[in-house]
Amino acid sequence: MLLQAHSQNANRTDLSHQRCINPACGATYETHSIRTSCDRCGELLDIAYDWDHLPVPEKLSDFEAMWSQRTNPIRFSGVWRFHELLPFAPQDKVVTVGEGQTLLQQADAVGEFVGMDAGKLHLQYEGMNPSGSFKDNGMCAAFTHARMMEAKRAACASTGNTSASLAMYCSTTRLMKAIIFIGSGKISYGKLSQALDYGALTVQIAGDFDDAMLRVQQVSKQLGIYLVNSVNPFRLEGQKTVMYRVLEALRWEVPDWIVVPGGNLGNSSAFGKAFMELKQLGLVDRIPRLAVVNASGADTAYELYERRGVRWNGGHIDFDPIRQHNDRMDREHLKADTIASAIEINRPVNLKKCLRALDVMDGVVRQVTDQEILDAKAKVGAGGFGCEPASAASVAGAKLLRREGVIAPSDRVVCILTGHELKDPTATVAYHTTDQDLFNRVLASRGVSKASYANRAIAVPNELDDIIKAIQLYS
Ligand SMILES: *Cc1c(COP(=O)(O)O)cnc(C)c1O
Ligand SMILES: [Zn+2]
Repeated sequence: MLLQAHSQNANRTDLSHQRCINPACGATYETHSIRTSCDRCGELLDIAYDWDHLPVPEKLSDFEAMWSQRTNPIRFSGVWRFHELLPFAPQDKVVTVGEGQTLLQQADAVGEFVGMDAGKLHLQYEGMNPSGSFKDNGMCAAFTHARMMEAKRAACASTGNTSASLAMYCSTTRLMKAIIFIGSGKISYGKLSQALDYGALTVQIAGDFDDAMLRVQQVSKQLGIYLVNSVNPFRLEGQKTVMYRVLEALRWEVPDWIVVPGGNLGNSSAFGKAFMELKQLGLVDRIPRLAVVNASGADTAYELYERRGVRWNGGHIDFDPIRQHNDRMDREHLKADTIASAIEINRPVNLKKCLRALDVMDGVVRQVTDQEILDAKAKVGAGGFGCEPASAASVAGAKLLRREGVIAPSDRVVCILTGHELKDPTATVAYHTTDQDLFNRVLASRGVSKASYANRAIAVPNELDDIIKAIQLYS
C-alpha cells in the first residue's frame, strides 16, 4: 500500500527539482522554472526527486490496488496512474486526455520472423495513444508543467508526431495555443493532417527538421513561448511510464530486452531513467538490456556508440568523436534519409542521456536498412495491429540481434511500436502496391528493391464470373 502518512507531501513541488545531468556540474533548479539546458554548463536537465519524503509504493504490484479507481482521471490515465513515480506536479494541475491506454501483445508470428521461441516476443503498441503515437506519454507531462508555469503558447519542431500530440493537447484542453514548426521535406500526411485539423498554428520553414529545431528554440526564447521539444525534461518523465506499463502487463516481471527505435533518443533516455530509479527505489531486482535501433540512413547513435566507442563513462563523455562526427556531416553535407521519417534525425538532442541509459541498461545500438524496416513492418501488420515505418525498426533490430546471437531465442523481448499504422499510409500502400511508379517513387528511390511480404490487390474485370473465379483461385 502507499505510505499514506506521506501523502500530504505528494503535492509539494519542493520535493522535486531540475538537475544538470553532468555530474561534474550537478547544478539544480526549481521545478517551477522554464529552462531547456543548464545555465552553468549548457548540458541537458533531468527531473530529480526527494524520494525519501515522497509516498512511493513498497512494491510495484501496489499500483494494482489503484486499477479500480478508473473514474478518477488521474488513475485512468496510463501515465498518471503512476503519478508516484513522476511526482513533479500537484494533482490539480495534471493534464490528461486518457493517454497511455496501450497494449502489450504476445506476437508469435512476428516472433517467428525475428527468430524467437514461441511466447518470447512481445509488442508494446504505443500507437494506441489518443494522437496515435507514444508522444502523448511525454506530452501530457510537459503540458502539465506548461500549465504549472501558466504558459499561454506552446511550441515544438517535429517530424510529425510531436506536433500532432501537442496540437491535440492544446485543442482538447484549450489551455494553450499550439505553434508548430515543420521542415519542408518529408512529413507524412497522416501527421500533418492532425496538426492542421486540431487548429495548430503551423509554420513551415524552408529547411529540414534540424533547421526547424534550431529556429523553434530561438523563437521560443525570444517570445517566451513554452517549448515542448525532446529537450524538455518533463516529457521524458511521462515517457518513463511506457516501461511501467510493460512491467504491469508482464505481471511485474522484468523482461530480458527492450528494443526501441532511436530518433532524438528521448524514449531510450526515459527508459534508462525509469529503470535507474526503479532499481534505486528497490522496486525491481534487475534491469533489462536495451537495444536502440537507428535507420541506416540516420545512424548517428550507432556511429558514435558502436563505431567510435563513445560512452557515458560516469558522465565524463569524450566529446571529440561527437564533434568530429558533426563536423564531418556538415563538411560533406550529409543529411539523414530514411522512409522512417520519425527517426530521420541527424543530431539526436538526447544523445548524452541515451548514453547514460545504454550504460544503465547494458545496451547496444544497431542500424537497419529501409528494406529491413519495411519487411518487418509488413510482418507486424500481418501479425496483428500495424505500425508506422519507424516503429518497425525495433522488430528489424531484434531480428538482426537474434541473427548475431546477441539476443537468444529464449530471451523475453519487448519491441516498442512507437506509432500507429495510419500515420503513414503512403509507405504501406507503396509496399503492397502493384503500381510500379508508386513503388519506385516512394521506395525504390530509398534502396528498397523488393516487397517480399506484400499483400497485393488482385485486378479483375467487372464481371461476376471473373470475380468469383479469382476469389476461388486465391482463397
Ligand atoms: C518520435 C518518434 C520516434 C523517435 O523517438 P525518440 O524518442 O526521438 O528516439 C520513433 N517512432 C515514432 C513513431 C516517433 O513518433
Ligand atoms: Zn550543468
